[in-house]
Amino acid sequence: MWRNWSGYVSSPKATVMTPGSRSELVDALRGAASSNAPVRVVGAGHSFAPLAQTDGVILSLDRLQGLIHVDAARRVARVHAGTRLYAVGAALAAHGLAMENLGDINVQSIAGATSTGTHGTGITLGNLATQVAGLRFTTADGSEVFASPDENADLFEGGRIGLGVLGVLTEIDLHLVPSFRLKLQRAKMDLEECLAQADTLVASNRSFELYWLPHTDTVLTKAWNITDEPADPVHWRRYVTEELLENTAFGLLCGLGKTAPLLCPSISRLCASLISPGQQVDASHSMLSTVRRVRFNEMEWSVPAHRGADALREIRTFISQKAFPLMFPLEYRWVRGDDIWLSPNYGRDSVHISVHQYKGMPYEAYFAGVQAICLNHGGRPHWGKVHALTAHDLSRLYPRWDDFLALRERMDPHGRFLTPYLRGLFGH
Ligand SMILES: Cc1cc2nc3c(=O)[nH]c(=O)nc-3n(C[C@H](O)[C@H](O)[C@H](O)COP(=O)(O)OP(=O)(O)OC[C@H]3O[C@@H](n4cnc5c(N)ncnc54)[C@H](O)[C@@H]3O)c2cc1C
Repeated sequence: MWRNWSGYVSSPKATVMTPGSRSELVDALRGAASSNAPVRVVGAGHSFAPLAQTDGVILSLDRLQGLIHVDAARRVARVHAGTRLYAVGAALAAHGLAMENLGDINVQSIAGATSTGTHGTGITLGNLATQVAGLRFTTADGSEVFASPDENADLFEGGRIGLGVLGVLTEIDLHLVPSFRLKLQRAKMDLEECLAQADTLVASNRSFELYWLPHTDTVLTKAWNITDEPADPVHWRRYVTEELLENTAFGLLCGLGKTAPLLCPSISRLCASLISPGQQVDASHSMLSTVRRVRFNEMEWSVPAHRGADALREIRTFISQKAFPLMFPLEYRWVRGDDIWLSPNYGRDSVHISVHQYKGMPYEAYFAGVQAICLNHGGRPHWGKVHALTAHDLSRLYPRWDDFLALRERMDPHGRFLTPYLRGLFGH
């Protein structure tokens, strides 16, 4: 049975197919059409939203991975769309190239990550879809369409974040940068002090983010900057921080908090007390991503950058009024504005606020309150995470909404890639 990473979304009745070539992919699409089964493409299944959920056919491109070719002079690479981000990073490094930015983890497929507007942090850095230079789709009837700024430009503008409703992405061209090393500096700060200095911290670091620990005044900050310093020869410090503290020990504490929710504030305070400053240097694709083994459910909102601090303060008040049992930090990141039709960052520099709840613990009231606060601040939801918006709400948040609907209709007139969840999103 197919299940997503968090375990909250499953498709017990779906037929999962893993085509190993374009002709097998076309056969799978035609077979699904002949039995009138809806089709969803899945990457690594790391979305919290039920984007891939269906009783029909789930197509995984796991057998279609790898680098196709690199144009070093233009700094553009073509990759199979199912390629996982860690494999993209390693393959590009061998050519002296790198992706400009990444999110927290690197196990997503490149198509899955770009199709939902997955992002990292950095006010001069766009989400991953802004790194796309070209897209090759196979549509429901098996035909191929390529899109770039020079060819099918509207499909390029709208299709970089397409949630898998326009067709199956088989190849993606990426704009790259010369490979670089990053120094990550971790520090502990007071929340209000950090918010007061945020503009300076964001402007003076290539990438900056903060994690606020609920029930405390403490934030963990992370700042990344390009460096010529050599990569750290031993990784034991990183192992202790990321594996032992942030995964093994944190997982045990979460288990304790789930059994005894009254302990959650104390657990969060304990985690805050354990934050210690540190730094590491490594290749960008290694330094930007972390390992996340403790399972959770997540909601995330993109709000205009100047509204972020007020939204965070309101969420903080809301949490303390309701006394939610929380142990996961709230993550707060910056993303540059762009021009992609369904991008949460369309037309504005943004702050992204992510809230999490440990797997198996109640999240509904917490997430509903955060959604109301963020909507009030002009928020747009992360497409891959939990939200309760439908077409009516979404159409008011995206200036190019109608253009996307028209594009979707043109690319998939019979709605083969739609499911009840997606019909709700797109009002079909
Ligand atoms: C632990 C964890 C950490 C995360 N960290 C971040 C983060 O730092 N920043 C952030 O922004 N997000 C983050 N996310 C969210 C995640 O990046 C997105 O949900 C992303 O879409 C997942 O990629 P995936 O390959 O798993 O795609 P899936 O979840 O499998 O699919 C996502 C969407 O892409 C479509 N799709 C996939 N492959 C194709 C294809 N070949 N053709 C057409 N459509 C396709 C699917 O149909 C679906 O609509 C995180 C998620 C988890 C679980």
